[in-house]
Amino acid sequence: MARVRTAVVIGGGIAGPVVAVALRRAGIAATVYEAYAKNADGIGGELMLAPNGMAALAAIGIAEEVGAAGVPTPRMVMETGAGKRLGQFEDLPGLPTSRTFKRARLYRALVDAAVDAGVPIEYGRRLVGFEDGVDSVVAVFEDGTRVEADVLIGADGIWSTVRGLLDPGAPQPRFSGLVGLGGWARDAGLPSTAGAMHLAYGRKAFFGYRVGDDAEAGWFANVHSAEMLTAAQARAIPESEWLARLRELFADDELPALRLLDQVDPGELVNVGGLQDMPPVRTWSRGRVVLVGDAAHATTPSSGQGASLSIESAVELARCLRDLPVAEAFRAYEGLRRARVEKVIARTARINNDKAPGPVGRVVRDLVFPLVMRTFYQPERMMGWLHRYTIDWDAVVPAPQS
Ligand SMILES: Cc1cc2nc3c(=O)[nH]c(=O)nc-3n(C[C@H](O)[C@H](O)[C@H](O)COP(=O)(O)OP(=O)(O)OC[C@H]3O[C@@H](n4cnc5c(N)ncnc54)[C@H](O)[C@@H]3O)c2cc1C
Repeated sequence: MARVRTAVVIGGGIAGPVVAVALRRAGIAATVYEAYAKNADGIGGELMLAPNGMAALAAIGIAEEVGAAGVPTPRMVMETGAGKRLGQFEDLPGLPTSRTFKRARLYRALVDAAVDAGVPIEYGRRLVGFEDGVDSVVAVFEDGTRVEADVLIGADGIWSTVRGLLDPGAPQPRFSGLVGLGGWARDAGLPSTAGAMHLAYGRKAFFGYRVGDDAEAGWFANVHSAEMLTAAQARAIPESEWLARLRELFADDELPALRLLDQVDPGELVNVGGLQDMPPVRTWSRGRVVLVGDAAHATTPSSGQGASLSIESAVELARCLRDLPVAEAFRAYEGLRRARVEKVIARTARINNDKAPGPVGRVVRDLVFPLVMRTFYQPERMMGWLHRYTIDWDAVVPAPQS
């Protein structure tokens, strides 16, 4: 098979624009097709890029431009609902700083970086099918149009259409047992958390918050739910009901939760519904079609890694397509990525269980956590494998062994 010259990228979220920029750097003409209209980019609360995500952006030269849309967040403070500090995680030395973004701002910055790199982005183009041929692949859109390219990349998120077309038996997203809500407070009257994200195991629910130097606060809550709620189902419940429920869940905690909830503007509650991840997706590619980002390996937000892993995968996929013929490139890409992303997903599923323990589990956790932090926590050993992942953009990808 000849080397790749053109790519159709489905999805203009995070992995889509990044893979398109990286492909352009690799001399491959990529165009992004996004289902939604231009002004619908990125809804939702805040999102953090870890050092490995920032490093992957740096590998293709867009870390500075994109990073400017976020704020440095080099520290995570873990605490109980009683305000007792359980431990603190700092970014490891010598790495790019973690940054927190408003989701919409990160999406916008990535799209801007793609446009600056010469990537055409077409909105209102929903993929509904593809025809995979020997020499090319044809993307078929809802509006009846068709686009031919050397490869088709499914960067279409956790509910990927491309994944279902590649493998009708592919697994469905899996509910974590938690529902996600969040929001902002423009002037919460709270002191700046000085670059720290606070993560608190409240008595009845999990609460995260950060206050910027400009007094604006971002917060999120993870609430246990026996049933999966889609975003639409969760939003069908009036905001006032959710806010009342959150107030009740955090009423006994000594956290700034109630103060922040009081500041939620009507209509601004971020409600993402049930948090989900993907069980192992056995087929990442077939013929000239491949998956990247959440379509292949979604993890729940508790990992703080979904976007960072998506960016890593996007850059690695572009390197493989630059250096190898299609079939080998897809195998090399999966070889570079699968074990790592599945390790993060499995680890995160365990963290989700910790967020909703019973009373005994809570007591054990609150006693054991600080002890583990004091006695066993070795930052390099525990976080190094995750945060020190680096991509050498110029290194040639070797052909995978068959
Ligand atoms: C509440 C919440 C908080 C999170 N917090 C963090 C965090 O702090 N840190 C972190 O690293 N990750 C976080 N994540 C995860 C992160 O958002 C995802 O991992 C990341 O968005 C995946 O990027 P993606 O490009 O693969 O998918 P998406 O960002 O979902 O983008 C997919 C795009 O494809 C488009 N699309 C879908 N179907 C089609 C189609 N048929 N045709 C054309 N376009 C299509 C969609 O409209 C969308 O724009 C969070 C997720 C949630 C829900």
